[in-house]
Amino acid sequence: MSLDTRLTDEQQSLRKTVEEFAREVVAPVSYHHDKTKTFPYDVVRQMGEMGLFGLPFPEELGGMGGDYFALCLVLEELAKVDQSVAITLEAGVSLGAMPIYRFGSEAQQQEWLPLLASGQALGAFGLTEPGAGSDAGGTRTTAVLEDGAWRIDGSKAFITNSGTELTRLVTVTAVTGTTSTGKKEISSILVPVPTAGFTAEPAYDKVGWNASDTHPLSFDGVRVPEENLLGQRGRGYANFLHILDEGRIAISALSVGAAQGCVDASVQYAKEREAFGRPIGQNQAIAFKIARMEARVHVARTAYYDAAAKMLAGLPFKKEAAIAKLVAGEAAMDNARDATQVHGGYGFMNEYVVSRHYRDSKILEVGEGTTEVQLMLVARELGL
Ligand SMILES: Cc1cc2nc3c(=O)[nH]c(=O)nc-3n(C[C@H](O)[C@H](O)[C@H](O)COP(=O)(O)OP(=O)(O)OC[C@H]3O[C@@H](n4cnc5c(N)ncnc54)[C@H](O)[C@@H]3O)c2cc1C
Repeated sequence: MSLDTRLTDEQQSLRKTVEEFAREVVAPVSYHHDKTKTFPYDVVRQMGEMGLFGLPFPEELGGMGGDYFALCLVLEELAKVDQSVAITLEAGVSLGAMPIYRFGSEAQQQEWLPLLASGQALGAFGLTEPGAGSDAGGTRTTAVLEDGAWRIDGSKAFITNSGTELTRLVTVTAVTGTTSTGKKEISSILVPVPTAGFTAEPAYDKVGWNASDTHPLSFDGVRVPEENLLGQRGRGYANFLHILDEGRIAISALSVGAAQGCVDASVQYAKEREAFGRPIGQNQAIAFKIARMEARVHVARTAYYDAAAKMLAGLPFKKEAAIAKLVAGEAAMDNARDATQVHGGYGFMNEYVVSRHYRDSKILEVGEGTTEVQLMLVARELGL
């Protein structure tokens, strides 16, 4: 058993590079994109040039030959300053491209991965429907095989990266028949963008993640070739759940970054801001609040490092990933609340990073499985 959580030189160097990028390139435009609710194309282009969208994929498929943990480290650094940018990368890699890497045929991998890994194109992951979120098996979208093509009809809700100028692919789950036991047979199918009958409806007006792209999608007689089936027919739902198990580790890393960003901003502010003739951080009430925030970050980071280590070692990691998602989402939300309190009235002003974390962090207790879903997963692993 290895208990060593120190980063290697290579990991430290990656983290430092992205930390500088986040500080010098991302942070200066974050307020603008949040306020104007615009997608940060220039930032995403530069992330593509840095190879960030290809981090966990092999070089022969256009990737950087790194691993999932490298992606997590990058997400932490980006999320400290801008959760919208971090979720754009997280969804692009772990939801957009990873299903093809894990379950795609060689031809599908050759066609899509170099493009998605370059960051010049984005893929989206279409599981949630207006009537099927936590209960994602309640999929109603259908795909019927007609003359060598899938005809897809239905709708999806809340799909990240699905309507940008860079979006080239949406992978969807759809009911393709009935199993021998009378249940829905759910498969996943690749839908290139644009395809006739596919529409990304107008973007949602969200509470946070304003610079991230999220749309409802409609599929009206969309036809794609039979070979666009991803993985085995009938395995679509199971395969997507596997992708979500992994994705929970990435979203935990993003949450840890957000929670850490709140600590960093609060420490700095508590040293600078004076009240009653001394820095507010010299009051134990403030210092203890920030110390507790730091403790939350430490616990959540340790939890996701553990889940990632198990996943990379090929060990079962479902429970650990759910626990990491649970504690990291709560750490981000709790730290955002405490950080705005430390900042007083300024914490309520949108140009302060902590105010953005306050609005952005709520979704970390909902997206990629709500807190209640994580508790269900953990309880199930305990045989309850
Ligand atoms: C900004 C954003 C981006 C997203 N990106 C994507 C994406 O790229 N792809 C994608 O497929 N989806 C995406 N989602 C969807 C997201 O994963 C779902 O919103 C989430 O899984 C919850 O589903 P729901 O909204 O239908 O809530 P519901 O499932 O309706 O849940 C409502 C409430 O009931 C609780 N609940 C439900 N069932 C139970 C139960 N059995 N026991 C106890 N409590 C329960 C839930 O925890 C929640 O509190 C995104 C959502 C948002 C807001």
